[in-house]
Amino acid sequence: MQHEHSSYRVPTGRPFLMRELRNKLPGVDDRMLYLDAPADPTEYEDIADALWEVFLVARNLAPARSATGCANHPSGPVDTEAPEGWSRCLLCNSRRRIGRPNVKAAENASKYRWAMPEPPYDHAKLMEVRGALNHAVQDLDYRSPDEAFQQVADLVHAAFVIARELSRPRSTGCQRHPGAPIDATAAEGPRCMFCVAQERRRQVGPPAVNVRPSRPVPRVRTPANRRWGTPPSPPNAQPT
Ligand SMILES: [Zn+2]
Ligand SMILES: [Zn+2]
Repeated sequence: MQHEHSSYRVPTGRPFLMRELRNKLPGVDDRMLYLDAPADPTEYEDIADALWEVFLVARNLAPARSATGCANHPSGPVDTEAPEGWSRCLLCNSRRRIGRPNVKAAENASKYRWAMPEPPYDHAKLMEVRGALNHAVQDLDYRSPDEAFQQVADLVHAAFVIARELSRPRSTGCQRHPGAPIDATAAEGPRCMFCVAQERRRQVGPPAVNVRPSRPVPRVRTPANRRWGTPPSPPNAQPT
């Protein structure tokens, strides 16, 4: 059927995918909302899985994104050392480099086609992305521009990345003692046990040790005929 009054045609599959997005997202969203802050890593793991499912839908709603991010060379070679602010297209970047031989590769060149949020990946950041995502989805319509669908896919991906990081077994995050045990009972929340102990020692001083005079050691009488080494054979042992 032709839409004679409009030159715009809803892309095939978009209504179905949008229904799927609206079916899947609210469940994950509720679970994010009612999480403790911060929740147990296993809870973030479930949410990361659910967000990935949502991302697969959102990605199909957004225009295909090429590995190079270049409109002229979408399937060209990828520049793994792309400088800051450049695309990841090796063909275009090689040309640009001719004029700027001293340009350096970006410190943390993004290897991803979809948005990677800036660290730190914490609960507050997840809630922030959640809010932005809800806002973006709310405004979404069959006729929304491609950028709107791209933004939704980027936000779902960002939320997924944060939830996945939060699902890793918790570490203290202590720079000086990576891998140190966690003091879960520390006053300011779970912290590095070594740092907590050092602080405490600074405040309270080293632990006092009371040296008590020891009592005389009782004498142990050893029978003169006691033999060490071979255990005595039981009385009813059979000779071999
Ligand atoms: Zn290019
Ligand atoms: Zn520490």
